[in-house]
This record gives sequence, structure tokens and C-alpha cells, in this order.
Amino acid sequence: GKQPAAAHVVLLASPGVGHVLPMAELARRVVAQGEVTATLVTYANFSSAGHGFPSALMATLPPSVSTAVLPEVPLDDLPANARIETRILTVVDRALPNLRDLLISLLASSSPPGGGGVAAFVPDLFGAWALQVAAELGVPGYVFRTTNLMALLTLLHVPELDRTTTCEFRDLPEPIRLPGCVSLRGADLPDPLQDRTSPAYRFVVESAKRHLLADGFIVNTFDAMEHETIAAFETLSGKGVYPPAYAVGPFSRTCSSGGEKAEHGCLRWLDEQPDGSVLYVCFGSGGTLSMEQMAELAAGLEASGQKFLWVVRFPSDKDRSASFFGSGHGHIDDPLSYLPEGFVERTRGVGLAVAEWAPQVEVLSHRAVGGFVSHCGWNSTLEGVAAGVPMLAWPLYAEQRVNAVMLAERVGLALRPRGNDDDGVVTREEVAALVTELMVGEKGAAEREKARELREAAAEAWALDGTSRKAFEAVAGEWKKTAAAVRSRGAS
Ligand code: UDP
Repeated sequence: GKQPAAAHVVLLASPGVGHVLPMAELARRVVAQGEVTATLVTYANFSSAGHGFPSALMATLPPSVSTAVLPEVPLDDLPANARIETRILTVVDRALPNLRDLLISLLASSSPPGGGGVAAFVPDLFGAWALQVAAELGVPGYVFRTTNLMALLTLLHVPELDRTTTCEFRDLPEPIRLPGCVSLRGADLPDPLQDRTSPAYRFVVESAKRHLLADGFIVNTFDAMEHETIAAFETLSGKGVYPPAYAVGPFSRTCSSGGEKAEHGCLRWLDEQPDGSVLYVCFGSGGTLSMEQMAELAAGLEASGQKFLWVVRFPSDKDRSASFFGSGHGHIDDPLSYLPEGFVERTRGVGLAVAEWAPQVEVLSHRAVGGFVSHCGWNSTLEGVAAGVPMLAWPLYAEQRVNAVMLAERVGLALRPRGNDDDGVVTREEVAALVTELMVGEKGAAEREKARELREAAAEAWALDGTSRKAFEAVAGEWKKTAAAVRSRGAS
């Protein structure tokens, strides 16, 4: 038979492309450590959303990564306007019995004398809800944070804020000052935390508490991006306040594997554009603009005269993450038809609007791309960094406002439209001014310089002896130790 690997780890990706993609990348890197095998667990819920993911993606995983899908759980009792966080955490919660069964069967099949048990259970930020199940089975848990460390510190602070204040966070009189972080307005905390009476609020506070069941956090960030925060976190975990954090990033895809067509037409269009001349506009897998905002963005892009490549989604006046659950819901037409009258014709040659989806990694690393209007999803941010492209930070939901503050005020990688504060509309004038500044202005040039520095630093972080590589080896080393201990207990 096959020689069992030293350590088997179970990775749990919560629903959504932005969660499955980085977890798949983690799986790849985990097994590349040698002597480690992995099972990547996903949810059937929402898996048909997201443009062919994750089944196409799953097919590209290395053979030492097994996969398992937790069966679909019903959600029809949730109100139609339930928040994205409520939906995801409800799926995770309702599938806990299935997850427990799966873990039990994996434990049985990898138990000594041949195997080393399950050395670690590694959920992502929403999957942290399930840490209890692993703890009950004696499996160590490590949360893979697909966001940055500042967002993690902020989340971990939320239960205390919840306990010690009574107003809505957006009304907090003082900014939130956390060790090693730039200060944050209460209003910059994620949306579900802005309404204490909502189910999503309770879910997030409880999820933050459950994070403390972890034996460690694997964080998709790196020293040059968050040096002060990493140092501050180390001090806190040294005092036993929090489990240790391993800064192992950036984990971003080097190419858009998966459902996309290998050669998207927009890449051929980019081939014809001058170096660094094109602004790429994309709001992640879920980002959605209102009708009014879509019109203002269009007019601003047009007025700027800058070249652009815009991934256009169906607008929604209700939900800034509407695309997350699969685009085209209830639409039989084309998202481009929601653009202002004549926009496509007037900008022909200058701009290209593509419907729904672009192969983002290839786009960002194309020599013609010189700027990125982004919702500041962390994967998108890291992909921009890996390509050395500066950003215009346009957060829409989740922890994106935290990211935007950090990128603009700490890192110096992004300009921020003020109109976006407090969920306002960014006017065409502001769009035009900022786009011009980013592409050809002085501030844009400074940010481009910073982006290039970070690109170098990101590469160094994963070079031999790089900080992130070492942190990753340290956490994998913990898993191998656990597996060895289980095996020697089984042998005696
Ligand atoms: N993505 C893409 N093409 C698109 C939109 C998104 O390839 O048109 C990919 C993008 O490269 C990133 C992921 O989808 O890897 C989105 O993750 P992110 O964390 O940026 O945002 P989320 O969608 O989770 O809000």
C-alpha cells in the first residue's frame, strides 16, 4: 500500500469564490511542504455561483489534495434580505453535523498505526464558526485568514467593543486604536456590525469569540505590508492574549486557473494598448454598484479621458454584494445595457467594458495595466500588489473599509474617494479627478513606486529564508509534530 503521509490536514473553505480560491492555494502550498496531505472541504451551497468555480478549480488541484463537499443545507427560511454574513454563517452552522461526520471518518481512516490522525483542522474566517467541532474531537484548529492582520485584530476586538459600549459603532465618539494599527472610525467597521439588532451582528460577534478556540492564525499578509501590526500581534500572543499569528502571505494565484476561457478577448485588447496606460476597474466577485453609482462611475471614467477596462456587473440598489450569489439573477439581458446611453460607443477605442468577469490575475499583470479601481477585497489587493499596480480604493462590503483605510493611510498604495465614506455616492467629478491623479498625477506616481516596492518585498517574503516562507514552515512543522505524536501514541 501507499506510505501514509506524516500529517493530514483538513481545510474548510466557506461558500464563495473569494473563499474557495485562497483556500485552494493554501492546499497547494500545504502539500508542497512534503509529508503533508490535505482534504479540501467545500459547501454545496452557492457553489454554482461564481462563474464555473469551484468544480473547474478543484480539477486543477494536485493529487495529494483530496476533496469533499458538504451537502446543501436549506436556507429558504431566511428572509430575502438576509445579509451575506448571515447566509454564510447559517450554512456553516447548519452543516456542522455533516462536518463532524466527515471529520470522524477522516480520523478513522488516518488513525495509527499507519496514519497520524488529523493533524490540523484549518477553516477560513467564516469556517472558524466550526472550530468547536474539531476541538471536541481533539483536533487542533488553525484559522486561515484570507484578509490582513489588521482586519483580524479588529475582529478580535469586537466582543470587547460589544461589551463595553452601547451605541452603534458608527456613533462611537472616539476612533478605535488597536496596537500596531492605524486608527479606525467606528463607521469603518464592517456593515453587519453597524446594526446591533441584526442577526448578522450577533453572528459576527460570536464568530469573533470562536476565533479564540484556534491554536493559531494563518494570515495572508506579509512583513512589508503590515510590519507594525505583525510585531504588535506577536507581543499580544506572547502575553497569551491571542493565539499566535503566522504571516505567510501573499498567497495569490499566479494565473487565473479555473472556469475562465484561457484567452479572454480583453487580453487581446490590452495587447494593443501602451504600457501602463489602462485603468482596470473591477469590484471582486461580489461587488455591486447602485444604478446611480454606475452612471457616475461611467461619466467619470469618460470625463477622465484615461484608458480603462471595466468589468461591469448588473447594478443593484439594494445590495452591494449582490453579485456574490451568482450574477445574472433574474436578468435575461446584458449588464452592459445598464451603462449610460451611448457610453460604449463614445468610449470605443479608449475603454473596454466587459460583462461580469475578467481573468483578473492576467489582466493585472499585463504590461498595459497601470492602475486598479478595486473594492479592496483582500485577494484582489494582493493580486494588485503582486503585479505592482497602485489602487483607487473603493470598498463596498465586508472588511473592505478596514482594508481601504490601511492601504491608503498606512501602506500608501491607494487613493480614496471621499464620497465613498459612509456609503455615499462618488460623483463623476471625483471619479474623473482621482482617476487622472492615479494614472498620470504625482500621487499616483508615488503610489506606483510603493506598489513596485511591495511587489519586490512580496517576492522576497516567499524566497528561501523569506519571512513568510519561514512562518509557513513553522506552522507546517507544528502539524508534523502533532502527527508524529499521534502516531507514537498509537504505536505504544
Ligand atoms: N476575480 C476575477 N475576475 C473578476 C472578478 C474577480 O478573476 O472579474 C477574482 C479575483 O482575481 C480574486 C477573487 O476573484 O482572486 C475575488 O476575491 P476578493 O477577495 O478580491 O474579493 P471578494 O470577491 O471575495 O469580495
